[in-house]
Amino acid sequence: MKKIVTILGARPQFIKAATLSRVFHERDLKEVIIHTGQHYDWNMSDIFFEQMAIPKPNYALSINSKHHGDMTGKMLEGIEKVLLDEKPNAVLVYGDTNSTLAGALAAAKLHIPIAHVEAGLRSFNRRMPEEINRVLTDHMSTWLFAPTTTAVNNLSKEGITQESILQVGDVMYDAVLFYQKMAQQQSDVLKRIGINSEPFILATIHRAENTNSQEKLRAIFSQLEILAKEKLVILPLHPRTKSLLDRDYSTDQFKIIDPIGYFDMILLQKHCKLIITDSGGVQKEAFFNNKFCITVREETEWVELVEHGFNFLANPISTIQTLVTQLWDREFDSKKNNLYGIGKSAEKIVDILEKNI
Ligand code: UDP
Repeated sequence: MKKIVTILGARPQFIKAATLSRVFHERDLKEVIIHTGQHYDWNMSDIFFEQMAIPKPNYALSINSKHHGDMTGKMLEGIEKVLLDEKPNAVLVYGDTNSTLAGALAAAKLHIPIAHVEAGLRSFNRRMPEEINRVLTDHMSTWLFAPTTTAVNNLSKEGITQESILQVGDVMYDAVLFYQKMAQQQSDVLKRIGINSEPFILATIHRAENTNSQEKLRAIFSQLEILAKEKLVILPLHPRTKSLLDRDYSTDQFKIIDPIGYFDMILLQKHCKLIITDSGGVQKEAFFNNKFCITVREETEWVELVEHGFNFLANPISTIQTLVTQLWDREFDSKKNNLYGIGKSAEKIVDILEKNI
């Protein structure tokens, strides 16, 4: 039986991998999972494996909380050892984290073909660690699974051969469609947080470009604090952001909570009025849930959302207030086109891998 080694390490990768693992399981392909340990808290890692029934990793490298070079180097070393033992037919990496880059580099050096899910995304901002990881991973990959037309065009412009670029839609849409019913049945998040029927804003902030500058971080949280004088704001706080906040911002109306599981997150997205985020995944999930999104960044890789008027960049940060006022009662046009496919991306990817490895 053909063998694929999947490399994971961070929260968004668990969610993406859940969709493919399920399909691998139904097919004639053996999946071996390496968890690098980039995210390791129970509510940043284990909960996703449990809820989404992702197979337990075969290898746990436990490499966490280090500077980029140290982390990527240790991952490279650890992954290489596993690849030498396992001798897979292909390596599968997701997104744009240090685990993605280390996995791709380890495989490339051993001449193992690489499949990259979420290929072709570009912010054109080389100061973002994610941008470096994406560009390098794409240029080492054999199969570049691009979620959008923009991603395909980005790759073509960088000279990648057309046969390697495969537009398959976005596996995160598969995940929302597949898990939304389970989330409805299993999550008690609304009750737990004490939300009845009042409208609320859902917020997440974790990107290095926002958290690495105290000035920016303070500006964002001050904006959210002002909003919370009038509206309920719920913010599941990423551990890195938590460690960098200069003070406690939480109030009755500004509920800053620990990171939550995917089912809770899907439910909050479904019931909220508006989303404010700097997350890549959450921008798309806002769209899947028919919610406007205010993105606290200077640019986004998900440009089609901005072009179609579903997503708004809060640049400068002070525009958050005006955007919330403008969007609060605006109707979301749910007769939208399939910007991210039809929810069958994981199957398309596995079909291609099954035929080609
Ligand atoms: N998410 C979650 N719990 C949280 C915050 C986010 O399950 O407390 C999910 C979210 O719904 C999305 C994914 O994590 O599916 C996004 O991951 P993150 O924002 O960490 O990374 P990014 O998408 O920016 O790479």
